[in-house]
Amino acid sequence: LARNPGEREFHQAVTEVFESLGPVLDRNPHYVDAAVLERLCEPERQIIFRVPWVDDSGHVRINRGFRVEFNSALGPYKGGLRFHPSVYLGIVKFLGFEQVFKNSLTDMPIGGGKGGSDFDPRGRSNGEVMRFCQSFMTELYRHIGEHTDVPAGDIGVGGREIGYLFGQYKRITNRYESGVITGKGVTWGGSLVRTEATGYGTVLFAERMLATRGLSFDGMRVVVSGSGNVAIHAIEKAQALGAHVVACSDSRGYVVDEKGIDLDVLRQVRDVERKPVSAYVDSRPGAHYVADARVWQVDAQVALPCATQNELDERDAKRMVDAGLLAVAEGANMPTTPEAVALLQDAGVLYAPGKAANAGGVATSALEMQQNATRDSWSFEHTEERLAGIMARIHDRCAETAEEYGHPGNYVLGANIAGFTKVADAMLALGVV
Ligand code: NDP
Repeated sequence: LARNPGEREFHQAVTEVFESLGPVLDRNPHYVDAAVLERLCEPERQIIFRVPWVDDSGHVRINRGFRVEFNSALGPYKGGLRFHPSVYLGIVKFLGFEQVFKNSLTDMPIGGGKGGSDFDPRGRSNGEVMRFCQSFMTELYRHIGEHTDVPAGDIGVGGREIGYLFGQYKRITNRYESGVITGKGVTWGGSLVRTEATGYGTVLFAERMLATRGLSFDGMRVVVSGSGNVAIHAIEKAQALGAHVVACSDSRGYVVDEKGIDLDVLRQVRDVERKPVSAYVDSRPGAHYVADARVWQVDAQVALPCATQNELDERDAKRMVDAGLLAVAEGANMPTTPEAVALLQDAGVLYAPGKAANAGGVATSALEMQQNATRDSWSFEHTEERLAGIMARIHDRCAETAEEYGHPGNYVLGANIAGFTKVADAMLALGVV
C-alpha cells in the first residue's frame, strides 16, 4: 500500500485476489520464495503522457494518457483503453492487474495491460474525438505492436475511437499492422462477434452457472446496469435465452420497462443518437425513468452489472437478496464492492466475478489477433461457437478449482487461483525478469 499511495481501486483489486490465494500458497511455498506476489503487483512498465488537442472552438485542451504494461509472462500485453473523466493511475492499474488473471483464464497466449485517459468523449463532436484519438496515438504508437502490446476498447472507447486510433497508427508507422489493436470494424481487420463478445460471454457464463442449480435464463426476471456495449449485448443474449429483461441504466439514472427492454429503441437512443438512457421512455409508452438512482432498486432474479467499478454496494445487495435474487454475473470490471460480494456469497447467491464472467471480450480479441495473423476472417457462427466453448471452459475451470481447494461454488476463489497458477508458473519458468 505504501508503494502505491492513493490508488484505492488498485488496492481493492489486489486485496481481493490475494485473499483467495492462501490455500495455493500453502501447497506451493516456492511461489512465495520466488516473490511471485510482489512481482505480480509491480507493473513491468507504466507510461504516462500528455495528450494535447484542439477543440472545435480553437481552444487547446490537455488530457493525461496512460498505458500500464502489467505482465507479459503469457504473451504480449493485452487490455483495453478507457476514456472517462474518472481515469487516473489507480483505475488503470486495477484494470491492468485484473486483466492479467482474466487473460490467463482464457487460455490464450496474452499478457495483461490497460490504458486510457481522463478525456470525456461524451458531448464531444466527431472531429474533437478524432483529434484527441490522433494525439493520443501519436505518443502511444511507440509503445505498442502486435508482439508487444495490443490495446482494445473499454468505457468510452468503441468502434469509432478504435478506427481513429488505428488510422493514426497506420499513418505514423506506414504499416497495415492489423494485429496491433482489436475491436476493429469487420471490413478493416475486425472479427465478427467481437462487439457482442463481452455481453454474450457474460450471459453464457451465467447460464452455465445457473445450470449447476438446475436453473436457466428462461423466464428469469433480469436487471442490467449500464446501456453501453457490454450491457446492450448482455440484454440481447439474455433475451435470446428467454429472459425477461426489465431495466437498464446509465450514469444518470435508470429505465424500467415491464414489457421488456426494446433493444431497437435502446440502440437508437444510445448508439445512433448518443443520448442518455432517459430518452428511451420517449419512444416507449409504459416505460418510466428514475433519475439519480441505481438500477438495483428494481427487483430481479438475476443481476448483470455491466457499467463500472463499485456500482453495486452492500445496501443494494441486501435489498436484492431480500427481494429474491438468485445470481449475479459481472459484465463490468469489479462492479460489486467487497462487502456486497461477501453478503451475496453468505446468502447463497450464485456470484460470477468479472475476471471470469466478462473474459469473453478479451478472448474474442485474441481470436481477432489469430485471424489477423493468418489474414483470415471467420464466420459469425464459427466465432460464436469458439466464444461459447471458451466461456464453458472458463466456467468449468473456476468451478473445478474451487472444488479442488475445498470451496465448491466459490467462483471468486476458483477464478483467482486458476488465473494465478498459470501466470505464476510461467513467471517462474522465465526466471527473475
Ligand atoms: P461503454 O462506454 O460502452 O458503456 C459504459 C456504460 O456504463 C454506459 O451506460 C455508462 O453511462 C455507464 N457508466 C460509465 N461510468 C459510470 C459511472 N461512473 N456510474 C454509472 N454508470 C456508468 O463501456 P463498456 O460497455 O465497453 O464497458 C462497461 C464495463 O464493462 C466496464 O467496467 C468495462 O471495463 C467492462 N468490460 C468491457 C469490455 C469490452 O469488451 N468493452 C471487456 C470486459 C469488461 P454513461 O453513458 O452515462 O457514462
